[in-house]
Amino acid sequence: MPAGDASYEVLVLGAGMSGLAVGTLLRRAGERRFAIVEKSAGPGGTWWDNRYPGAHVDVPSPLYCFSWAPNPHWTRRFAAAPEIQAYVERQYDVQGLRPHLQLGHALTEARFDEAAARWRFTTDDGRRLDARFFVCSAGPLSQPRWPAIEGLESFAGTRLHSARWDDKVPLDGRRIGVIGTGSTAAQLVPPLAQRAGQLTVFQRTAHWVLPRIDRPYGALDRTLARLPPCAAAVRAFWYHVLEWGRRGFDEGTLARRSMRAAGRRLLHAQVPDPALREQLTPRYPLGCKRIIYASDYYPVFAQPNVALVTEDIARVVPEGVITADGRLHPLDVLVCATGFDTSAPLQSLRVQGLQGRVLADDWRDGAQAWRGVTVSGYPNLFLMLGPNTGTGHTSTLLYIEAQARYALRAMAALRAGGHRWADLKPEVQRAHNEALQARLQGSVWTHCRSWYRHDNGRITALFPGFTREYVRGLARWNPADYLLA
Ligand code: NAP
Repeated sequence: MPAGDASYEVLVLGAGMSGLAVGTLLRRAGERRFAIVEKSAGPGGTWWDNRYPGAHVDVPSPLYCFSWAPNPHWTRRFAAAPEIQAYVERQYDVQGLRPHLQLGHALTEARFDEAAARWRFTTDDGRRLDARFFVCSAGPLSQPRWPAIEGLESFAGTRLHSARWDDKVPLDGRRIGVIGTGSTAAQLVPPLAQRAGQLTVFQRTAHWVLPRIDRPYGALDRTLARLPPCAAAVRAFWYHVLEWGRRGFDEGTLARRSMRAAGRRLLHAQVPDPALREQLTPRYPLGCKRIIYASDYYPVFAQPNVALVTEDIARVVPEGVITADGRLHPLDVLVCATGFDTSAPLQSLRVQGLQGRVLADDWRDGAQAWRGVTVSGYPNLFLMLGPNTGTGHTSTLLYIEAQARYALRAMAALRAGGHRWADLKPEVQRAHNEALQARLQGSVWTHCRSWYRHDNGRITALFPGFTREYVRGLARWNPADYLLA
């Protein structure tokens, strides 16, 4: 790893899936003058961070790999986190990206130097780096959010956040509490229930849970997955199934009716106790929060060592959690599966663009960009999984691929045109966001609190359409969208 200051053509922040995509495409384009700077000690991004028991992908694995690197090694339809991490690590090797990795370093500042037409960076160990292009793939779900609960710090047992798991914490036979019932909790609760002496799940909201139609992949599946036409057919199949699922967010569709019915059926089949079923019944429109796919979550609540608590949490005390009814729930371990802070992305990094403007200030009322990739006032910057690029229905890698290809296309066009930089026109960004927000008005996502929305209610995380629409929107780099220098 280079110890001192250095100059690059491209600096990529983040060695997760996005960094992997951009790095791969850069190398394939013959570019070697790039670095991937990552704060963690290894690549993997969200899969490096989320090592809690039971972590797995919630879209079918054949769609959770890049189109240029199908993975014939998946052992299940919904792969577990260690398998995905192994895929990522293997890809960093296979694609020749290891020499470009700078692990264990965080960027603290990125500033566009207008005179030199370069991005200048400062790292947490005081190094100074610079690059012509800056690809920012810090991950939208990378800042763990602790719940704002009185006394949380006072807990005398072990407190864990799901995204900062510590394998060394003993769990067997202990009294474990889980706060949260989102996608993460639904994956985490079944394995914890097997190990805990007593497991208490604190539910603020009952979520929609649909069956996860998982199955192991056998030798035949893996053999077929090595044949490119078969692998492509399986991938295409899942692509179209999940695209159909996008219709489930629109009222009045067959998809929506089917998904609601599947959720209700699962609840009835897996929770025979009417009182418990009532507590687990979601009270908000399906899809407004991320849909959970789990076939092993509801049955856990029938176990004698598992309790569902729906009383509000009043406060945390050294001995455990006190609920609004005054009851103390004594705990040895308190797990916060309370999600991520998405309202202020990139908060650990100061990004300064033209005329001293700072991204955090520009995004005070919610992040915005053009198709989630470029931001007016910040030339030669490409965001990966930026604002309004999240998807509630399919593989996020499909979006990452489109963004990475767009960034490379833009870089090539600038070089070919002899331009020093491209800055998105403010009116292009404004028009794009006005249209996006108008489209989101009244959508299913406006009906509840979730990480999809900024505190002011604006939906800043999700793209409302189908994948093909998003990908088509990035298929071409249009110089007319940019001020060129
Ligand atoms: P989340 O969806 O934001 O859920 C957080 C949970 O914590 C919610 O149930 C929330 O309740 C609860 N909570 C937060 N603050 C609380 C408080 N003060 N008191 C009580 N409860 C509180 O977070 P997540 O489950 O980590 O999932 C985040 C996203 O990560 C998912 O939507 C998904 O996109 C992604 N994810 C993906 C996978 C995968 O397989 N690919 C796996 C896990 C997660 P309310 O609902 O009432 O706010």
